[in-house]
Amino acid sequence: MRTQVAIIGAGPAGLMLARLLQIEGIEAVVLEARSREHVEQRIRAGVLEQGTVDLLAASGVGERMEREGLVHHGIELQFEGERHRIPLSDLAGGRSIVVYGQTEVVKDLIAARLASGAPLLFGVEDVSVHNLESEHPQVRFRHAGRDEALECDVIAGCDGFHGVCRASIPAAALRTYEREYPFGWLGILAAVAPSSDELIYAHHERGFALHSLRSPELSRLYVQCRPDEDIEDWSDARIWEELQIRLGLDGWTLAEGEVLEKGVTGMRSFVAEPMSYGHLYLAGEAAPIVPPTGAKGRNRAIADVRILA
Ligand SMILES: Cc1cc2nc3c(=O)[nH]c(=O)nc-3n(C[C@H](O)[C@H](O)[C@H](O)COP(=O)(O)OP(=O)(O)OC[C@H]3O[C@@H](n4cnc5c(N)ncnc54)[C@H](O)[C@@H]3O)c2cc1C
Repeated sequence: MRTQVAIIGAGPAGLMLARLLQIEGIEAVVLEARSREHVEQRIRAGVLEQGTVDLLAASGVGERMEREGLVHHGIELQFEGERHRIPLSDLAGGRSIVVYGQTEVVKDLIAARLASGAPLLFGVEDVSVHNLESEHPQVRFRHAGRDEALECDVIAGCDGFHGVCRASIPAAALRTYEREYPFGWLGILAAVAPSSDELIYAHHERGFALHSLRSPELSRLYVQCRPDEDIEDWSDARIWEELQIRLGLDGWTLAEGEVLEKGVTGMRSFVAEPMSYGHLYLAGEAAPIVPPTGAKGRNRAIADVRILA
């Protein structure tokens, strides 16, 4: 097999890069280790910044986002028993944020790619990258029971923090910086209408809490916890009780519902530089990671591939 750009990873970075290259008439093959179902259902980021929204729309994959995304013009900060609204749009020249889940962006990008007939392979195994310093880099992998070799001009490593691309760069050529924070976020996805139209970031003596949402029917809520917290210690009842305490405010009720998913995310900042080696270019979380506290990772991953494309 031969292509111009071999893209490893079909997360937001890899899929968006494939889209941008396709618009420019540059051929690419996208290789993804997991199944389509897994990639489309992996609950992660929720908030799109204006720059990401604009890029998705300009790339012809923003139609559903424009219809179903929830535009927010501000956020609430809560501390010492009071809420303070930060009017983002007023402060940022009319720019806003849009709540539109990562699952939905990924679905839209996958659908557009498959509809165009451009190659996107799921369930690839044993991906490895070779000849990075030569003019003829190569990706080897196994797919549908066959060993394959993909020749290309450039490899885009969009395979996230645990991928193979960064790990294939000789250690001496890479500088890394890392900080692990002494806390994590226990997050739930709940089948209940959000109790607030906007995000609420709450400071409480028992720890931080965040009220967020995914849609008019789905709430996304977080409580700060230990990074090694055992999720088994947190019954749904205990999670709701803690959320009620930390987000509670006189005259406001946090609505509870069925917990559809829960998990603990550790908080880490990580930077690897440079982001390229020979004809291998890293993008998205394959190079730096920011903790989800800033709702920044997916936006940054997409900004990366805009420049790389
Ligand atoms: C709980 C949580 C909340 C978050 N909230 C936000 C938010 O509100 N806003 C925001 O902007 N960001 C948020 N983020 C961060 C955001 O989800 C990530 O920054 C984003 O997924 C990065 O995209 P990516 O494409 O670089 O990497 P990934 O999404 O990790 O994609 C990498 C892909 O590569 C595949 N892969 C890995 N190894 C291989 C291999 N060897 N071969 C082939 N494929 C491989 C993986 O299966 C995956 O599909 C959040 C993250 C978490 C965990």
